[in-house]
Amino acid sequence: MDASASQHSPARAIRVRCCIVGGGPAGMMLGYLLGRAGIDVVVLEKHADFFRDFRGDTVHPSTLQVMDELGLIDGFLKLPHQRLQTLDGQFGGTSVRLADLRRLDTKYNFIAFMPQWDFLNFLREAGQRFASLKVMMSTEATDLIRRGEAVAGVRAKTPEGPLDIEADLTIACDGRHSTVRERAGLAVEEIGAPMDVLWFRAGRKADETENLFARVEPGKMMVTFDRGDYWQCAYVIPKGQYDAVKARGLPALRDDIVHMAPILKSGTADLTSFDDVKLLTVAINRLPRWTRPGLLCIGDAAHAMSPIGGVGVNLAVQDAVATANLLADRMSQGCPSEAELDAVRRRREFPVKMTQRMQVIVQNNIVSGALKGGNEPLKVPLLMRLVTALPWLQGMTARFVAIGVRPEHVHSKAVSS
Ligand SMILES: Cc1cc2nc3c(=O)[nH]c(=O)nc-3n(C[C@H](O)[C@H](O)[C@H](O)COP(=O)(O)OP(=O)(O)OC[C@H]3O[C@@H](n4cnc5c(N)ncnc54)[C@H](O)[C@@H]3O)c2cc1C
Repeated sequence: MDASASQHSPARAIRVRCCIVGGGPAGMMLGYLLGRAGIDVVVLEKHADFFRDFRGDTVHPSTLQVMDELGLIDGFLKLPHQRLQTLDGQFGGTSVRLADLRRLDTKYNFIAFMPQWDFLNFLREAGQRFASLKVMMSTEATDLIRRGEAVAGVRAKTPEGPLDIEADLTIACDGRHSTVRERAGLAVEEIGAPMDVLWFRAGRKADETENLFARVEPGKMMVTFDRGDYWQCAYVIPKGQYDAVKARGLPALRDDIVHMAPILKSGTADLTSFDDVKLLTVAINRLPRWTRPGLLCIGDAAHAMSPIGGVGVNLAVQDAVATANLLADRMSQGCPSEAELDAVRRRREFPVKMTQRMQVIVQNNIVSGALKGGNEPLKVPLLMRLVTALPWLQGMTARFVAIGVRPEHVHSKAVSS
């Protein structure tokens, strides 16, 4: 252990084969898969529950396929959700179709909208049958335990006091502001994004229906999802402009929203203060190096994605599947070497880079232009015109968004529970 470790004398310590930090989609899926493979694994989640509004709520066909391969799909699809098959938009005055999932030749050809806490609770409950999996809520990793150069677990804060979790392998799934990767000194390569997003809910009356998902006007962009009794809305603003939006005041924001989406007229009454609006500071970044000896980062901790395409949850799940496929067997014998851990980056970096590249293309060709504003009427970008005109291209965009690059399938072993 390092010097700081030797000065620290926790009341308690536990020892596990694998410690996963973070109970988001990456951590909960990986915990499930390792528990299923009989690995002694603990998942630490700093919050007491999964109930946080406005996390990624999109479950794409690639994740539905994984749930199918795990035998969980029937129970999962019994949870309340909405299904989306086409991505239609309004660009200036022109209607565009950006993707058509009905063209996919996959078993699941829809995006399921489900609150992320339902998805995570489902995984947690399903994982309870694995004796080797433990999920510890209200447990926050605050530092690393080191043994020489290697990471040997984490120090955690729990309601019962400090706890050391000694582990052969620590996996950081603690999201885009990862404490673990920061403590490990892993450098983040920022790619950048020209926008931030304001998320809010607007009430929906039963007779309010509209099949529009994206709206673009000079200087403004907005995405709306029909979530049954409410509209989930993402209002896109130029990067760093939230204070300016606040300074103009809530009535001005409501007016802008209703001007773009008249269907939200009554629903925006739900916006009573800026507390009802959540700012997503959009980031696109990735780690050139995902590992240290004894440590691996996956999901947003390894690569924050732009909300374009709503792919963050699904990439996190795909990382988890790849990690279990590549490492579960090896982990039953101890900690994989750093070179073995790096197999996960080698497998997943290409899909991450390709997806981020596409997000940057959309940012540069569509988002930046639209957010510039001005009095000129908006011209539908060539890319969008092509996709709208050629239905087979709508199948390709659907494949990219819904399945992604190099989809993962579950190959890790399942020991009987
Ligand atoms: C407002 C918003 C809207 C989004 N919308 C979409 C969308 O529509 N579709 C989509 O696919 N993606 C969306 N995303 C992105 C998506 O949520 C992420 O890409 C995805 O959740 C990443 O999963 P993850 O498991 O890697 O990390 P996270 O989901 O960030 O999970 C990390 C977990 O670690 C926990 N944690 C953090 N630090 C510690 C610690 N020190 N100790 C213990 N636990 C810790 C956190 O509480 C959290 O539960 C959105 C993100 C935001 C913020």
